[in-house]
Amino acid sequence: MTPAEAQLAEAAARQVSRVPFEDNGFGLCPHCNCAGHYVNVHRAQWFFCAVCRTRWRAGENLFSSWRDELTAGGAKELWAANAAMLELCENVEPVIPPSPPSPPPAEEEHGTR
Ligand SMILES: [Zn+2]
Repeated sequence: MTPAEAQLAEAAARQVSRVPFEDNGFGLCPHCNCAGHYVNVHRAQWFFCAVCRTRWRAGENLFSSWRDELTAGGAKELWAANAAMLELCENVEPVIPPSPPSPPPAEEEHGTR
C-alpha cells in the first residue's frame, strides 16, 4: 500500500460516521451524497469521498487553513501527499442540493393582479 492509499484508507475509516445529505455548501459525493472531507493542495480546496473515491474541486482560498499549513512548515510535502491521494479518486461533478423554496414575493399576497 502506497502512502497515498494509506491516507485514503484512513480517511475512509473516519468517514464511516459521515452524515448523509449534510450540506456544507461545497457539494456532495454523487454516489453516496456525503459531504466527504477536504484537503488543501496549495491554495486550492478539494473535497473528496474516500469511500467512493471521488473528488471535486471546491475552489481556491475558501478556507485559511492552507495558510496555516504553510506557516506550520512541511506544506510542500503535505500538499504533494494530498495531491497523490486525490490522484486515486475520480474527478466528478458534485451534487448540489436544491435550495429551500423561497417565500413568495409580498406583492402576490395582496392580489394586485
Ligand atoms: Zn461517496
